[in-house]
Formats: sequence, structure tokens, C-alpha cells
Amino acid sequence: MSSELICDFCGKGVKEVDKIFSAEKAHICNECIGTCSDIIHKEELKKERAEFRKGLSIPTQIKEHLDNYVIGQEEAKKVLSVALYSHYKRIDKPVFKNVEIEKSNILLIGPTGSGKTLLAKSLAKIMDVPFAVADATALTEAGYVGEDVESILSRLLASADFDIERAQNGIIYIDEIDKIANQSESATSGRDVSGEGVQQGLLKILEGGEVYVPVKGSRKSSSAETILFDTTHVLFICGGAFVGLVKDANDKHKNKANKMGFLTATQEELKSDDVESKDLINFGLIPEFIGRIPVIATLNQLSVDDLIKVLNEPKNAITKQYQALLELDGIDLKFSEDALHTIAEMAEDKGVGARGLRGIIEKIMLPLQYELPAKDNIESCTITKDFINGDKEVELTYLKKGKKEAN
Ligand code: ADP
Repeated sequence: MSSELICDFCGKGVKEVDKIFSAEKAHICNECIGTCSDIIHKEELKKERAEFRKGLSIPTQIKEHLDNYVIGQEEAKKVLSVALYSHYKRIDKPVFKNVEIEKSNILLIGPTGSGKTLLAKSLAKIMDVPFAVADATALTEAGYVGEDVESILSRLLASADFDIERAQNGIIYIDEIDKIANQSESATSGRDVSGEGVQQGLLKILEGGEVYVPVKGSRKSSSAETILFDTTHVLFICGGAFVGLVKDANDKHKNKANKMGFLTATQEELKSDDVESKDLINFGLIPEFIGRIPVIATLNQLSVDDLIKVLNEPKNAITKQYQALLELDGIDLKFSEDALHTIAEMAEDKGVGARGLRGIIEKIMLPLQYELPAKDNIESCTITKDFINGDKEVELTYLKKGKKEAN
């Protein structure tokens, strides 16, 4: 009995664990080895992340990284790079020389499909922090049916693999923030009070504080486990189209580019300098809420040339994805210049920015993805404008006999 092998760390006997490793004077079980190795791994990761952040700690470098993912939107990228730089400086030193540095949450204003979500997501990727997206229209005040604001934090926690420390340094993008404004400038009786309630609800997480958050992300079960979540270091990025936000700015720019009087709708020329707090208040955001989002950046509607770049240039551009897919079948996929132009124009016509591109390409590619694998010896496939318009077959070239077998 007394000779039974036990782990010197946890005291478990050889029958309670899978394996005990013995040296001359000490014994350790497989479970304790696992725990130690987890701790070492986490500490190594933490060190690596800190080094990684140090390596790109200045705004020009952050912007360079953003350029890999986001086309155009130069001003927004600069504003965001600086905001992110300040954010991480503040995490390192919340108080410097008795000055409390406040959090720089960000408001992105721009039409749909201009890259607001993409920018927020790319920032999180570059900084290697967890990221979650929430839709402001799905949020309700506590006690009403729908999602409450804590659920946003649950999502961030889940995206951090339930590592609360990592989650507390994450980035949250809240979309459609303009939809929770009280659009009551002209109406007095029909005020949308619930919008204001949601803004109030968001305030407490935006300004940084401790909130109990359901761990599983489900509020349905009352016995759900909760965890205390400190939002002090979470960076919030809010986004919305804010159509018709700045009437003066549109007047200002009217002479320049107003082709058909649609400038208010498209906000083509809106600059962040044009947006003042009073415009946002007039739009229906409450002053306390605006006070918590001090950084404003505007995004422009993407032009046809921008859309062509979106198709081609980002690291994971759509055309590159399809090229990789067909390369797996040994086929070299090409898009002619006029084809790219046609696709970009089709997307522009849809009026949903770059968001429309994927759907258009998917439609073009589907019949090819269906038929090409059944054909032998195809070397390359070129998508042309005529093919897209249905005027001609797709251009195919074939391997000379025997070449494919040699592969
Ligand atoms: P928004 O949030 O402004 O409505 P998204 O960021 O969700 O738009 O964009 C939708 C998709 O369109 C993205 O996944 C991305 O592929 C593409 N996209 C949009 N804007 C850009 C951009 N400026 N550069 C590269 N791709 C973009």
C-alpha cells in the first residue's frame, strides 16, 4: 500500500491518472504535466503578443498593414491608426503625469459596403486581439425581448476562447448605430424611445466598467454561468451610414461633384471635419453617447476603379480565392481587364458598394465550377466581358497531350 506511486504535485495515485513519470526523487502525473505546459504555453503566447504589438506600434506601420486589406479610405485608415496607437498607449499607461488618458472609441460614418466592418476586423487581426460584431438594431433595453448589451461582451468572450484577459483587450464593432438614433427632429409625439434606451444601455459598456456577462452567450437559461467583465480596455468601433447627416457639408461640396443632386444620399464628399457633435445630436444620438465616441472617421463610396482594386488587390481578394480554387483542379483562371471593369460596374449599379461583388462573381463562376472539372486537359480559363454578357463562350486553352500526365 505504502509503495503506491503518487504524484508529488497533486497527490493523485497511479490508479487515478493515466501515467506517472518518475525520477529518482520525484514523481509527476500526466495531468500536472498538462497543466504546467498550458501555463508555459499561455505565457509564451503573451510574450509573443507583446513583442508583436511593439513591432507595429506606430501609426504609419498600422496604416501600412491596413493597406493590405482595405482599398482606399485613406483618411479613415489614418484616423484609425492613430486611435489604435493611442488606445494601446493608454492600456500601458492609463494615467501619465497625473493626466488620465481617456478611451478613444471610434465612430465610422460611411455608406454600406465601403469597408467599415472590414476596417474594424482588420484592426483586430493586425493587433491579434479577439473581435466581435454586433448589430445595434438587434439590441434592446434590459427586460425586453431581443439581445441585451451584455450579449455583445459574451460574443467577444467566446471569440477569445473564453480567456477573459484576452477578451478584455478586444475590439467590438457595433454596426447600424445610426438606426438607434431618435429620428425625432420633426416628430414630437412619435419619439423612438427604445433607441434612446439602447444608447443608454450601451453607455455603461462603452465608458468602461465592470459588467456581469453570461459565459455561454445565452440569456435564456437563468442558471447560466456569469463572469465579471471589465470593459475599460475594450475598444468599441461604431459604424453607420448616417444618410443625410450633414446638410451643410453637402451644400459646401455641391459645386464640386453633384452630378444628379444625389449627394445627400451617397455622402460622396463627406469628410470627418464636416461632422460636428451637433449634427450627430440633431440626427438623434444622445450627447452622453457621442461623448463616449470621441474619434470620428468617414468613409467614401467606392468608385468603379476602387471596386476593381477590391477584386484584385487585398491579401484575400475574391479573384485570388477563385484562382486558388481552380488551381486545385490544375486550371489557371484569369479575368480580363474588361471583365473586371464589367463586374465592378455591375456592383456599382446595385448600390451596395463592394458588398455586391461576391454575389456577382459567384453567379459568373458557378456554371464554370460545375462544368470545368468534367473536361480534360484544360490549361487556362479566361473570363471576359463578352462571356459575362452572354455574347461568347468562356475562353479556354488546352494542355498539349501528355503534359498533364507528366504532372
Ligand atoms: P460596411 O461595413 O461598410 O457595410 P463591409 O466592411 O462589411 O462594409 O464590406 C463588405 C465586403 O466588401 C467586405 O467583406 C470586403 O470584402 C469588401 N469591401 C468593402 N469595402 C472594401 C474596401 N475598402 N477594401 C477592400 N474590400 C472592401
